[in-house]
Amino acid sequence: MNNYLETLYPSWGQRFLVDEVLFEHQTSHQHLVIFKNQQWGTVMALDGVVQTTEKDEFVYHEMMTHTPILAHGQVKKVLVIGGGDGGILREVLKHQQIERVVQVEIDQAVIDMCIKYLPNHSQGAFDDPRAEVIINDGVKYVADCDEHFDVIISDSTDPIGPGEVLFTSPFYQGVKSCLIEDGVFVAQNGVSFMQLDEVSTTYRRLSPVFNEVLFYAAAVPTYVGGVMTFAWATENRALTHIDSTTLNQRFEKAGLHCRYYTPALHQAAFALPAYVQAALHEVSL
Ligand code: SAM
Repeated sequence: MNNYLETLYPSWGQRFLVDEVLFEHQTSHQHLVIFKNQQWGTVMALDGVVQTTEKDEFVYHEMMTHTPILAHGQVKKVLVIGGGDGGILREVLKHQQIERVVQVEIDQAVIDMCIKYLPNHSQGAFDDPRAEVIINDGVKYVADCDEHFDVIISDSTDPIGPGEVLFTSPFYQGVKSCLIEDGVFVAQNGVSFMQLDEVSTTYRRLSPVFNEVLFYAAAVPTYVGGVMTFAWATENRALTHIDSTTLNQRFEKAGLHCRYYTPALHQAAFALPAYVQAALHEVSL
């Protein structure tokens, strides 16, 4: 394989020159490939879609974890759905006050191969005594779960293949049943310029379940076509309006050394382009 062509979009996409294929396999759930590229380091893709790269993973993993955790301020228990590469788990566990993280990943092969070929993503997080990894379908887990979490993070693939169920109303209802009263749910929700319908659909499906449904964004270079959009859902509207002083104090106290996340960026990330606001307004009519 000299070139890896991402197939997320039928008529356009990014190409990686492949220096070395480290692993390629059709698992029982999806096609998994891990390869080396001079620009991005080691790259992992599932079903033709780039999931993560060594060079830019920090953007996504910092914004998907520290934003809800620092907004909440007293997180003890976190549920991660998906996240097989371990980047989300690594960042969540940096918060010393967190006592337990349950990660529900459908494909053991992703975890195993990312530990082997992308060790800097998890950095031993899967062995942290606070972490419990469960191999299961996330939609089934939340439907049957009788435990409650302060933050739930859906770090899934796109809504194709096994990830599709993680963008459905039954999943969101299950998430609500596992979230404590003033908890926060965040989810990867695609690149809004290219996948605006995914943002609208999530807004339509989440709004009946949670009082406050918003979106925030971050520029992840290898999620091509514009900024990456994250869904945010909570019953506690105050969490979305944490003042700068409080957020800065929490950030300092957490002792995080981030390369993308800052408290100022956290607050700015919720400011959305007019075209996204218009699409959300359309849904609410
Ligand atoms: N950051 C990436 C993105 O935004 O596209 C996602 C990375 S992570 C590798 C996505 C993970 O979701 C994969 O490990 C995949 O196996 C997992 N996954 C997909 N469908 C799932 C499901 N129904 N339940 C649990 N995990 C699932």
